[in-house]
Amino acid sequence: MRIKFILPALTEATSPFFRPIKYSLFPPLGLATLAAYCAPSDQLTLVDEHVETLRCDDDPELVVIQVYITNAQRAYEIADVYRARGCKVALGGLHVTALPDEAAQHADAVCCGPGEEIFPRLLADMRAGRLQARYVAQARSLLGVPPIRRDLIKRSLYLVPNSIVVSRGCPHHCDFCYKDAFFTGGKGFYTQTVDAALAEIERLPGRHLYFLDDHLLGHQRFAQALFAGMRGMGRLFQGASTVDAILRGDTIEHAAAAGLRSIFIGFESLSDANLKASNKGQNLRQDYRQAIERLHGLGIAINGSFVFGLDDDREDVFERTVEWAVTQGLTTATFHVATPYPGTAYHARIEAEGRLLHRDWRRYDTRHAVFTPRHMSAATLERGYWRAYRDFYRWSNIARAASRGGAFAHRLRRFAYAAGWKKFEPLWDLLIRTRRLAGMLPLLEGILDRPAPAASSPTVADVRTGEAS
Ligand code: SF4
Repeated sequence: MRIKFILPALTEATSPFFRPIKYSLFPPLGLATLAAYCAPSDQLTLVDEHVETLRCDDDPELVVIQVYITNAQRAYEIADVYRARGCKVALGGLHVTALPDEAAQHADAVCCGPGEEIFPRLLADMRAGRLQARYVAQARSLLGVPPIRRDLIKRSLYLVPNSIVVSRGCPHHCDFCYKDAFFTGGKGFYTQTVDAALAEIERLPGRHLYFLDDHLLGHQRFAQALFAGMRGMGRLFQGASTVDAILRGDTIEHAAAAGLRSIFIGFESLSDANLKASNKGQNLRQDYRQAIERLHGLGIAINGSFVFGLDDDREDVFERTVEWAVTQGLTTATFHVATPYPGTAYHARIEAEGRLLHRDWRRYDTRHAVFTPRHMSAATLERGYWRAYRDFYRWSNIARAASRGGAFAHRLRRFAYAAGWKKFEPLWDLLIRTRRLAGMLPLLEGILDRPAPAASSPTVADVRTGEAS
């Protein structure tokens, strides 16, 4: 069977004038994972519109499109073109799971929930000529998942080709989290076996890895066994965690010994009222400062994530948050305008209160205010969001943040990382256009590299012995 996998681009990423680096970071791992279920005789193509031009003048028998909220309109356009050409189109992903009836208007089949169990079923039905209109994930497990078809990924087009996911979902349930909504109605968090995860890591060339798991430290025993298995591999990696997991036990020391060099943390808000209202209890009563000091002591850089516009936020929230992030020594910060994604409890609440402004999904991109905030106007919220980015990434603040916490070499690396990320956007654009992005990977590795910490941590055998007892 001829099967084409497509990741449509966000509207702005198709601009001929500028290619933000954030769209050329990671390859479409989800689609390459689904491709692994295809038969060896199938003819497969995978197109990521963020980094290459999509042509729709071919004739695949099945087109599989990954849809998330801001690319939904583009995904539907592509689906309509292929259906008009007589191809079968299957749509899946976060947005399809949230709004299957909307997606169904543009598809022969919609897939709700994670694809590991759905997609083999869909393929079998397609081969038998009995494609169903809707597939809903019935079982959730990563046992026996075949190796990702990385051969379909054009590695040279990405800064971080070695992205990897060893779990699905998250043990927490923040009410604004779009990903949490994806796993509603079933197991919300599950992992690969440690052996399968280590085997996938072994298959990846080079040193650098980026774990795209929502919460890499979410299952402490799994994480410790994984990190024990990675010791001695000479890897450098980045990942995401929560504050409470960093403060609990010594998993973060295991991670550092295995090569963790930077971590994404969802601080989200400095207001307890906001955290409580968002069901983000894992951040409540946590000592952010202690977590940050611990990470700096281990030579781990921090990318802090913050949401603006929650109900306890007033107009001073932008300045206060930036100042806090700088004085705490965060290396990079990711700011978001609060966005009520369909399918989340947050969306239901804002909609019930009559505060949704529109349903133009292209603007549900965490940069636009799509609802009326409680204590400021939508325009003030958007202005404050942009100001926060400008202020955090001023040269003076990059230098000030890098000067806080950790050894001198760690501070220098953090300065280089933040400056390289945000102060050279035209250079990133040039590298993307000239297809030389992959040449920057050694530089990234050089910035992240440092001698392994002296502290000893257990081997994978030790961890498994502990697990058995
Ligand atoms: S901790 Fe992060 S990934 Fe997990 S539910 Fe909350 S926002 Fe989502």
